[in-house]
Amino acid sequence: MANEAGVYSYSAVQMGSPVLLKLFENNAALAQQVFRLIAQQENLFTVNRVQSEVMAINHAAGERPVAVSPAVFNLIQVAHTVSTLPDSAFNFAIGPIVKRWKIGFQGNSVPAAADITALLPLTNPHQVVLDAAAQSVYLLQRGMEIDLGAIAKGYIADRVQQWLRQQGVTQALINLGGNVQTLGAPPHEPQGWQIGLKKPFADDNALLGVIEVREKSVVTSGIYERYFEQQGRCWHHIFDPRTGYPLDNELLSVTVISDRSLDGDIYTTLLYGMGTEQGLNWLASQSDIDAIFVTRDRQIVCSSPRHYRFRPADTTWKLHY
Ligand code: AMP
Ligand code: MG
Repeated sequence: MANEAGVYSYSAVQMGSPVLLKLFENNAALAQQVFRLIAQQENLFTVNRVQSEVMAINHAAGERPVAVSPAVFNLIQVAHTVSTLPDSAFNFAIGPIVKRWKIGFQGNSVPAAADITALLPLTNPHQVVLDAAAQSVYLLQRGMEIDLGAIAKGYIADRVQQWLRQQGVTQALINLGGNVQTLGAPPHEPQGWQIGLKKPFADDNALLGVIEVREKSVVTSGIYERYFEQQGRCWHHIFDPRTGYPLDNELLSVTVISDRSLDGDIYTTLLYGMGTEQGLNWLASQSDIDAIFVTRDRQIVCSSPRHYRFRPADTTWKLHY
């Protein structure tokens, strides 16, 4: 815990990532409750342990439907809807591919092409059967696995925001491993929270700029977050569901500014798949969502800033609106 200008910061490591909570009161008990809430939610959704509600579904693949709690069912329903959109880069049935690549875990290497070809038929989201009446989820084939890693943090960040609001907190920030959700603005900075946009493949505190928001979520997905190098290439953790290989386009990161962090998490993946040009076109029709694209050729491309302000920090990168 540190105190600078009335800010009390509390940190932990959860969901394999650093978690930071900023409050404007000295209240370690409240922070502990937030970390407990996150841990409870992680216990439902994780696929990085043997047991969780989601793992119970995966263990029963090809055998039987599994009834889950309402929160898990609802998030799976959202994931299923997004995964079955035409041309969606998002696929929550991607588990077998994620597990095979092991990116971010020990023992990662580029799999044999034949392994990937064999796994792709086990990633069909249409073969995940949801029964709303029974609140159950059934993976039709043995070997199928769902993975909510792309959206669990966003969902949980929204839960934390909602819970803090219920406790009467009006100004706070939670950063769940890159998923930032905020309440209000800091007391002496009415223009908003200052959220750093990281410089890809650089020091942790090297920034391309600062994103200013009030009462918004800021989510970044970048290929520099989890990756390994082999055969002179960077193999990262955001997969193209069509190929089973990491998404390969001009992008280094996508940041989404939205009300709900769950939306931010969904749209970072979808926009990643669309790429900058198609993504910007699509954003023009979405009044609630803004995004910032960072490209391999050192450009920062901002959607027309309706819900944020961007202040560049590194002029060697070209800024476009
Ligand atoms: P994020 O950090 O939010 O970008 O999510 C990355 C995580 O989402 C990965 O570590 C995988 O667990 C999962 N994932 C990877 N590719 C996809 C995809 N195309 N659709 C849905 N989830 C994915
Ligand atoms: Mg995500």
